[in-house]
Amino acid sequence: MGTIEGRKPRVVLVPFPYQGHITPMLQLGAILNSRGFSITVAHTEFHSPNPSEHPEFIFLPLPDNLSGCETSYINSLNGISAMNTNSLARFHDFMVEMLEMQEQHGQVACIVYDTLMHFVDEVATRLELPTVALRPNSAAYLRSQHVISQLQADNLIPLPESQLQDAIPTHHLLRFKDLPFPVNAEIPNILLDFFTSYANIRSSSAIIWNTVDMLDHESLTKLQQHYKVPIFPIGPFHKMAPIFNTSLITEDTNSISWLDKQAPNSVIYISIGSIAIMDKKELIEMAWGLANCNQPFLWVVRPSSVSGSEWIECLPEGFEEMTRERGCIVKWAPQKKVLAHPAVGGFWSHSGWNSTLESMCEGVPMICRPYFSDQVVNTRYLTHVWKVALQLENNPERRGIEKAIRTLMGDKEGKEMRQRALKMKQELELSIRRGGSSWNSLENLVEFIMSFTQQNDKGHYDP
Ligand code: UDP
Repeated sequence: MGTIEGRKPRVVLVPFPYQGHITPMLQLGAILNSRGFSITVAHTEFHSPNPSEHPEFIFLPLPDNLSGCETSYINSLNGISAMNTNSLARFHDFMVEMLEMQEQHGQVACIVYDTLMHFVDEVATRLELPTVALRPNSAAYLRSQHVISQLQADNLIPLPESQLQDAIPTHHLLRFKDLPFPVNAEIPNILLDFFTSYANIRSSSAIIWNTVDMLDHESLTKLQQHYKVPIFPIGPFHKMAPIFNTSLITEDTNSISWLDKQAPNSVIYISIGSIAIMDKKELIEMAWGLANCNQPFLWVVRPSSVSGSEWIECLPEGFEEMTRERGCIVKWAPQKKVLAHPAVGGFWSHSGWNSTLESMCEGVPMICRPYFSDQVVNTRYLTHVWKVALQLENNPERRGIEKAIRTLMGDKEGKEMRQRALKMKQELELSIRRGGSSWNSLENLVEFIMSFTQQNDKGHYDP
């Protein structure tokens, strides 16, 4: 492969710097690298990926000047704007240098970017380079954002409470209450602009999706009609890519040695991902729920994920003594290995998209406690479409938690969910094998990216 003598074509990746977005972008890099492309990752200094995990990639830090900006994800709108403003000039200069050096480093085929990093489009348009948008979450979620934009355009927000339980006519697997942002109150303009910007693929020639046709078929079909560019669902990326570590936080490997001592299917694994935050009351209810249900548990409590606490100092008195023999709490776990471990029988999750895919790929049924955004949409699909999970209400209390754990880990309903989860795992495995939907889509994607190099095959750059 390679249109400039002896050189592989190069794909430049620009991730949005939060765990749930960086991971799929790096996995995509590994997938494309294994299919003959050289990879450059242009990334912000904030949440910079670890280059030593990817010796075959070139890393280019972009100055983001985020000091003074709120960088917690929930308040990150300012930060997104700053990243887009501050990274543009350096990225432009870097791309110009790269185009001048194509003879030595390989022809730049295209830039793949997270649509939150929209400065990329400006640079690519100036330099006449093709771009491809990466969607790190489900197609159903993007469609749900379209629903919100349409409701707003039709002046229907705020929607009356009485309609929240109704199925959405244009997205019938969801109810209005499953939309990623509550529509029974005014939505601030800044958020509406954010939805519009995120959904906008600008001049991208295609969309790559970390999803699977069998999970998201209807939404992919609808979005194909909307965007009118080729769509490549090639997920789950973590099963298509070679295994490597993408964690921004150090993984505590004791969790695996602890799991090694537990009985098969006995452990409930708990994690709310990299950005969700809970209050102290919820942590305390979780602790009592876990203490009372007698099930072994591996619990990730991310530092600063409990508001007003550094870590687990507000756990209730008596909890440690009650659970010492059957509980393990860590700050961050090697989640994919945890979910693949035979001791893990259930996953209590915030239902982020990566966690959802990782759990389904291992056939692990779930308890969903969504906090915001796509977690709400994913939960509806997990519980009512794929039927491999049950849902905890918001602000769950200890009795509800105990009941959910007992149901998932023990009773008939839980066993049926496990059966469906195992069937889903098998179907997902088929989709990534030769001839499966994601496999075929990847073949098409490789051909598609190669077609850029043939169109632009000048062998050198004319600024
Ligand atoms: N993760 C991990 N260790 C943990 C908790 C989470 O490696 O202790 C990883 C998890 O495997 C997933 C990512 O963090 O790939 C979280 O992404 P997701 O989309 O599920 O949620 P987000 O963090 O974006 O809300």
